Amino acid sequence: MDCDKCGREAVMHAAYSGLHLCEDHFVSSVEKRVRRRVREDNLVPDDATPENPETWVVGLSGGKDSVVLTDILYRTFEKDPRIELVALTVHEGIEGYRDESVAACEELSENLGIRHELVSYEEEFGVRMDDVVESDPENMAACAYCGVFRRDVLSRYAEKLGADKLLTGHNLDDEAQTAMMNFLEGDIAQIAKHFDASLGGFDEREGGAPSASADGAPTREEGDHFIPRAKPLRDVPEKEVALYAHLEDLPAHITECPHSSEAYRGEIQSLLYKLEENHPGTRHSIMAGYEELAALAAKEFGAREEGRVELSECERCGSSTTRDLCRKCSLLDSIHAA
Ligand code: SF4
Ligand SMILES: [Zn+2]
Ligand SMILES: [Zn+2]
Repeated sequence: MDCDKCGREAVMHAAYSGLHLCEDHFVSSVEKRVRRRVREDNLVPDDATPENPETWVVGLSGGKDSVVLTDILYRTFEKDPRIELVALTVHEGIEGYRDESVAACEELSENLGIRHELVSYEEEFGVRMDDVVESDPENMAACAYCGVFRRDVLSRYAEKLGADKLLTGHNLDDEAQTAMMNFLEGDIAQIAKHFDASLGGFDEREGGAPSASADGAPTREEGDHFIPRAKPLRDVPEKEVALYAHLEDLPAHITECPHSSEAYRGEIQSLLYKLEENHPGTRHSIMAGYEELAALAAKEFGAREEGRVELSECERCGSSTTRDLCRKCSLLDSIHAA
């Protein structure tokens, strides 16, 4: 098949759009989608200047998603002094998995010449995920521990590094899976949270109507407790991210984590593959509807919860929590006691 734009040999066919694209047109279509998302979500605020730039910390795991995101952001803002990128990698202590992907992160940051920070659970908390899985004092899936620790490390280090935003490499498949999971679990509060935490765009700081961006789309409520997150790769399907990494010859690490245990997500993933195959465009339409619904839910829950959720500080580590001891500190207690 030939490229629909230039007639050269196509490297891919996107069933959801009907387009065949050659290497050059495919690569630029991925970049365009990321840049459009950056624009539509107003990620670059009006008050960012070369003298007072925004710092974006990118969660770089060494997998294809975060590698592609870092690479595209770098090339987008290479000559724009209003944005400074810092890559942040978390080492969970997983033998034979994280070491290789850390090497990929180092190679990429070095190639691009951006600052790279590496933090490990071992240094931060005195635990390694391999040991946590072994002792498993709370009788939970590995990812349930790991997710708590990762969130803690990412937000604390993002703050330490002076981040204005924390960017992660979630792709379209990841987001459509999360959307479906929230739907099927009937968890509207979670859908509302998803909007305020990462889906909603940012207000334009000057001249923008409250709670609406330039094009009238609803924007998120920003809490004071967390560094805002964004996912500029979330319009690009997983397969296209992989193809991009391959064509651009990026150092991405592909093996799966040996402790990966999200069985439910796996089921949703197979379901979505099947639906997408029979009804191309399913992921896009799920996200279009979900985002609208999530905006409504966020508005409703925001109004209901105003002044109700009292966040205090964890008495041990000082992070925001609704309890005396935060989830991370209580997990660490039971791990160390095991
Ligand atoms: S798959 Fe689970 S255990 Fe493995 S790194 Fe990811 S969150 Fe941690
Ligand atoms: Zn072409
Ligand atoms: Zn704590």
